[in-house]
Amino acid sequence: MNLVTGQLVVVDHPLVQHKLGLLRDATTDTQLFRQLVDEITMLLTYEVTKDLATEEVEVGTPLERTTVQRISGKKVAICPILRAGIGMLDGVLTLISGARVGFIGLYRDEVTLQAVEYYVKLPGDIAERDVILLDPMLATGNSTAAAVSRVKEAGATSIRLIALIAAPEGIARVSEQHPDVRIVVASIDRALNEKGYIVPGLGDAGDRLYGTK
Ligand code: URA
Repeated sequence: MNLVTGQLVVVDHPLVQHKLGLLRDATTDTQLFRQLVDEITMLLTYEVTKDLATEEVEVGTPLERTTVQRISGKKVAICPILRAGIGMLDGVLTLISGARVGFIGLYRDEVTLQAVEYYVKLPGDIAERDVILLDPMLATGNSTAAAVSRVKEAGATSIRLIALIAAPEGIARVSEQHPDVRIVVASIDRALNEKGYIVPGLGDAGDRLYGTK
């Protein structure tokens, strides 16, 4: 059963956990790593969108008229946090193909571990959209909390976050600063190490996605 506390859901579905195990494995190559991130993101998207409002509409099947459910209300804006969040983008777009995409470029200062913004491009109508932020590794939570603040500054009021792996510190930081944000993850790992990496984690998600190390 998923672990659900307040605004946080840890998805412990066997498919998610199996794929996450492969993702953690240091011998998994870049190609498989990308594929797994894509697949896990799709499965987490299923969870993060489960409270989207629906409405009943009538359609005609080849046999008769019937009432069906259709997603109503706001449209979606998907906002990957650069660079590693890009690896999750296609997984969400596969399921929500009409979504707009915004990009939030933040890097982590290696010394202070604080988020520094270097590029932001968001849909102009983000205030009218349900926002899904993508950040594979919710580590200190500094960059994710900064990204949430950035989309709020742009007017967003409905914000969800998908991360693959979170550290307890990251969950605490985002929940304290932004208690309104719903968070869906595949795992909460033990801790952050002295370099700010999540342990056991999977290493540097960006490097493993793009083969840069
Ligand atoms: N970013 C990563 O890619 N990995 C971590 O463990 C922490 C932050």
